Amino acid sequence: MVMTRAPHPLPPRPAPSQTSDPASSAPLWHALPPDATLEHLGSHARGLSAADAAARLLQHGENRLREAPPMPLWRRVLRQFDNLLIWVLLVAAAITVAIDHVVDAAVIVAVVLLNVTIGLVQEGKAERALAAIRRLLAPQAHVWRDGHLLALDAAHLVPGDVIQVNAGDNLPADVRWLSTHELQIDESALTGESVPVSKHPAAVAADAALGDRRSMGYAGTLATAGQGVGVVVATGMATEVGRIGQLLQDVAETSTPLVRQMAQMGRWITLAVLAAAALLFGFGWGVRGLPALDTFMAAVGLAVAAIPEGLPAIMTVTLAIGVQRMAQQRAIVRRLPAVETLGCVTVICSDKTGTLTRNEMTVQQVVLAEALIDVEGVGYAPTGALLRDGAPLQPGELWREAPTLLALAEGAALCNDAELLRAEDGHWQLAGDPTEGALLTLAMKAGLDPQRLALERPRTAVLPFESSRRYMATAHRRDDGSLEVWLKGAPERVLALCTHALDERGQSMALQQAAWEQRIQAQAALGRRVLAMARGTLPAGAALTHETLPADLALVGLVGIIDPPREEARAAIALCQGAGIRVTMITGDHALTAQAIARALGLRATDHVLTGADIEAFDEAALRRAVRHCDVFARAAPEHKLRLVRALQAHGEVVAMTGDGVNDAPALKAADVGVAMGQKGTEAAQRAAAMVLTDDNFATIARAVREGRTVYDNLRKVITFLLPINGGESVSLLVAVLLGLALPIAPVQILWVNMVSSIALAAVLAFEPTEADVMRRPPRPPKQPMLTPFVLWRIALVSALFAIGIFGVYRWALDNGHDHATAQTLAVNTLVAMEVFYLFSVRYLRAPSFTWAGVQGTPRVLLAVAGACALQALFTYTPFMHEWFGSAALSLPQLALCAAMGVAVLAVLELEKAVLRRWRLV
Ligand code: ATP
Repeated sequence: MVMTRAPHPLPPRPAPSQTSDPASSAPLWHALPPDATLEHLGSHARGLSAADAAARLLQHGENRLREAPPMPLWRRVLRQFDNLLIWVLLVAAAITVAIDHVVDAAVIVAVVLLNVTIGLVQEGKAERALAAIRRLLAPQAHVWRDGHLLALDAAHLVPGDVIQVNAGDNLPADVRWLSTHELQIDESALTGESVPVSKHPAAVAADAALGDRRSMGYAGTLATAGQGVGVVVATGMATEVGRIGQLLQDVAETSTPLVRQMAQMGRWITLAVLAAAALLFGFGWGVRGLPALDTFMAAVGLAVAAIPEGLPAIMTVTLAIGVQRMAQQRAIVRRLPAVETLGCVTVICSDKTGTLTRNEMTVQQVVLAEALIDVEGVGYAPTGALLRDGAPLQPGELWREAPTLLALAEGAALCNDAELLRAEDGHWQLAGDPTEGALLTLAMKAGLDPQRLALERPRTAVLPFESSRRYMATAHRRDDGSLEVWLKGAPERVLALCTHALDERGQSMALQQAAWEQRIQAQAALGRRVLAMARGTLPAGAALTHETLPADLALVGLVGIIDPPREEARAAIALCQGAGIRVTMITGDHALTAQAIARALGLRATDHVLTGADIEAFDEAALRRAVRHCDVFARAAPEHKLRLVRALQAHGEVVAMTGDGVNDAPALKAADVGVAMGQKGTEAAQRAAAMVLTDDNFATIARAVREGRTVYDNLRKVITFLLPINGGESVSLLVAVLLGLALPIAPVQILWVNMVSSIALAAVLAFEPTEADVMRRPPRPPKQPMLTPFVLWRIALVSALFAIGIFGVYRWALDNGHDHATAQTLAVNTLVAMEVFYLFSVRYLRAPSFTWAGVQGTPRVLLAVAGACALQALFTYTPFMHEWFGSAALSLPQLALCAAMGVAVLAVLELEKAVLRRWRLV
């Protein structure tokens, strides 16, 4: 089937809709012919006017499905209790009440409430971050408005709008097809049938079931091939999906393997600690004969001390903050685990056009059989002369001076779906494919008016461009009824279809294959995208299909198009290479073009270029060998990407792969991190991807990798910060019980430290900025556990330091005649002081913290430290705290002692870092 297209410019518009509410009297659209459908909807084959659409939008509302109602507060609160720790604390509170320790019980209950509140707030924060991201992914629709094909927010579609759907698009509303070209739709979302069905404009029986309505397309289904133009018959909740009440698909996950692993670890720690507490109680009471009550309180203290209460919540927030930061950098994470995987990426396979290059195409040279024509000017503005041997050609005289050039320019305008619009500021804006935009500009520089040309030679059929075929063809009616066919595409494809060429006067001449191939190579070697243009004839009434291309195609000439590399891409590639990440380019362009651009961008292995044909010729083993030493893949089709991903993964590489088309989806899914383009990417690609770039820019991938590594660093810092605090507390308690001494810190005091100071301080780590060397380190091995030997060592060392500090100060106070409350308060303040200084240390896991930046911290760090100090002042000096927590006021020298212990911890850790760096142990 061939798609027909209305000519430029607009035919007269029908009177605005008289059908006030098409939906209220909705006929069976699928059984209605296209024209009757348009009429019923008060629309036209070229769509609505902007004013009419705006009025209809008011009447029908936005094209949105209602989202799931948010979970009510009581259920969210209840969900917080689905947590082993909370139950442990509640049981502890119940027992403490039973044994008359009412204040302790109240404190424990307060801690539970605080924990639930923090959980709620943090969950809300994470959810809001993800909801904001969902909004960023709002789908777009290609709509005819005021006679122009525009990309609009799909929410603004109204019944009567005429939309164009391409392979890879998700249907934004229910449509009645007006014309289709090999259109296939996957309707599994609606009918459960996973085989795509082909669609056509012909009406079907009135009683056809949903799955048999070939003349209709439904919102939420996916175009897998071809192209179609349809008129919107229903939007929002009036669509079939809306009526079924199916809800919007979400960015679902809020967790990652790592966070789940840590939550699991938290549960194990809790269980182990409970067992240890029971043992402790048995030992103290049964073996040592200590009073049951005191021993029980010590056991509760141990439980509270050893369980890292705040860890899972802070990890979730760290992740959410990372995702939010990435969104600010224009990388939208659709699958949360990708944040972690990004830090492990060892190879990035990137598309060329638009990602590494600017996708702003300009024709620089036209190559004819006997002449080279230079084209002046950059961008889409049609200003610039055509030069032959340095001398400008007069546009009005081309028919005499260079008829073949004029023919080529006509073909460039006719075999073209793009449109150039002049904005009010005089700027030329492109609607459509940049390659075609460049050709339109060329035609205009040659003095042609594309709109007039389209009227003079109306298009009767089109074979749209597909990356697998690499050419496009159109047929145009001549006065004698025969069809003039224009074919443009990758030169080797076009050359193979041509039987002869045109000389400078437009006369037929022999096709000198070798000479043309040389000309193609010369263009490609300059990094230009090369297109060949050919012209042929079909008899009146003949159909244009891939099988029935004219037998008399004449090669008219070549155009060499420049697409400059993105300036920031070069720097980003160098950054990735410095971070131990290999960057490869996969492109549909010519091998030499790809090679020239790859060299300009600084890719490494560019001496040998693998082409799609090579990839096809290789078996898996050969391909695996070949991918090791090649960074440029040219003339590659989407299906080659999947094989490349697999071949690279076979070497243990962690692969990030970019893609935009519907056929890229399998490769995006197979890659460790699939990256889809937000602007030129299809929805199919975006759905398959783990991450979407809203600016289609390679530099954004590099930034996302950097952010991914930062998030992982921060998660590790949170763990390295929190676990030793619990470790230090538990060790000092254990030592006390085992030696039969009084507890240096009471259980309620431990709760205070864990739930108030520790969390306030640890939360800062979620926001930590990127460390300077993050992109100078090699990628993290994917199997590397969070708790590496280094982290475990650090946890052990700091636990020991904390235990010594707590116990040392406590014993010193008692030995110097201070009462028990003062000794405990000293121990608590020492613990918090050590935490504060440790925070400064942990902000740089390996690098020294005694630097100007390190000492300054960030505003957030300083705020958290000030907060922790204020809370400690409250704890130490207010009577009600004395009452609740058994604390006592301290003198200034005593406070100085606490601070000194903190400084000592920092000094020891700086020494440790220096030694480890010196011996290259980290
Ligand atoms: P990349 O993979 O780097 O993004 P690409 O996907 O843009 O490159 P394709 O669009 O598949 O590459 O283009 C491959 C070749 O097809 C081009 O080199 C060009 O010769 C030809 N081509 C591109 N666009 C068109 C078009 N609109 N009409 C005809 N031929 C085209």
